[in-house]
Amino acid sequence: MPSELLYAAKHAKGFMPDNEGLALFEAARQYGRRGPICEIGTYCGKSTIYLGAAARQAGSVVVTVDHHRGSEEIQPGWAHHDPTLMDFRFGKMDSLPTFRATIAAAGLEEEVIAIVGRSEQVAKLWHTPLGMLFIDGGHSEGPVTRDYEGWAPHVVVGGALVFHDIYPDPAHGGQAPYRVYQRALESGAFKDVAVEGSLRVLERTKPHQGS
Ligand code: SAH
Ligand code: MG
Repeated sequence: MPSELLYAAKHAKGFMPDNEGLALFEAARQYGRRGPICEIGTYCGKSTIYLGAAARQAGSVVVTVDHHRGSEEIQPGWAHHDPTLMDFRFGKMDSLPTFRATIAAAGLEEEVIAIVGRSEQVAKLWHTPLGMLFIDGGHSEGPVTRDYEGWAPHVVVGGALVFHDIYPDPAHGGQAPYRVYQRALESGAFKDVAVEGSLRVLERTKPHQGS
């Protein structure tokens, strides 16, 4: 990964450790050749820099989806809340301005397309086959299940489904993404191809069938 983009990614605000970001970059560089890369859970654009850098090399593009109002676990009063992201006019979080500045500063505006909205609503409009899907949006049962059901069917055979925050041991983190990851494997349509920290890269081996 070019050093200036790596620097930008490392210093961007967000929830993506360097080693996992590099693994994300490697996966996107490989699978981005098969089609567009879609990210669920933009936040301030940290992971988006890794994906955008890969898209540039793969001749692909990143579509990143977020309502920018924050997940449950980053609202005021929660451990990961960042008070500088509050918009007091509406009494809501807003990570969109920070995201925009992050991507502009990294020089990735050509590679990155942002969609502002609820993932499940956007999924209903989506029909384009994806080379890679990265699921890092809402981490509780309902949202992560809806992200999988709404978006994973669009991953092409030979493309990748990538999860973040997979913790087989409940002592290390929430179990909902892990359960959905297991469900993807048990569907028989994906195989595990890479692991880095809490990042899991699955490759689609069979076409999506029905629901
Ligand atoms: N990938 C980011 C971290 C994402 S945090 C990084 O590298 O730092 C999770 C994000 O998912 C939050 O910004 C939150 O607003 C978004 N999110 C949660 N549920 C969502 C939903 N149903 N639709 C759209 N975005 C959602
Ligand atoms: Mg995450």
